[in-house]
Amino acid sequence: MATQRLFFAISLPDAMQQQLVRWRADTFPAEAGQPVAAASLHLTLAFLGEVAPETSRRLQTLASRIDQPVFDLELNDAGHWPRPGVVWLGCQRAPRGLLQLASLLRAQAARHGCHQSPQPFHPHITLLRQATQPVALPPRGFHWRFHVPAFSLFASEYSRGRTRYRTLASWPLRSQDPHALLSSS
Ligand code: ATP
Ligand code: MG
Repeated sequence: MATQRLFFAISLPDAMQQQLVRWRADTFPAEAGQPVAAASLHLTLAFLGEVAPETSRRLQTLASRIDQPVFDLELNDAGHWPRPGVVWLGCQRAPRGLLQLASLLRAQAARHGCHQSPQPFHPHITLLRQATQPVALPPRGFHWRFHVPAFSLFASEYSRGRTRYRTLASWPLRSQDPHALLSSS
């Protein structure tokens, strides 16, 4: 079987996708960049690149054993990277659960030969692409919050002039144990 272009990411709840798309339309003019489709909005945890089937299977087995707690994501930061032409949403302070999950997945990927960027991990959701001209960013003060109960492995597939993401597998994060909360209080 051929290799696949893969990445681990967090997807957004449907309601969050719709809210973000409406806010984006009100916030950025049409000429600012190419909007990412609602269903494609995601936060990449680890990019794997082209991966052989055996490596994909091994990384999925390791992902299924990850025991990390659920967390909430608060999107309250926005930025523009003119060189790749990306306008993004992110967090002023990324939650620990997110950083730990990404760090585990990236370490496992690196051990299986998937090159990891030496740049520090900057969790973000790409809102606009091809945004190479200056863009007016919204003033701080907005915040979108959603719960993250799981993470997924996606295949990035290019056909008929566009890239689509396909979910290959998803794994739940560990829900907060109410007894543990009670006994620690
Ligand atoms: P396209 O590249 O076809 O325009 P895309 O960027 O959405 O579309 P991919 O390049 O397959 O699709 O990327 C999938 C995800 O992985 C995206 O979130 C992208 O930002 C991220 N990604 C791609 N390349 C890298 C990389 N070298 N390092 C880190 N993340 C990456
Ligand atoms: Mg790309």
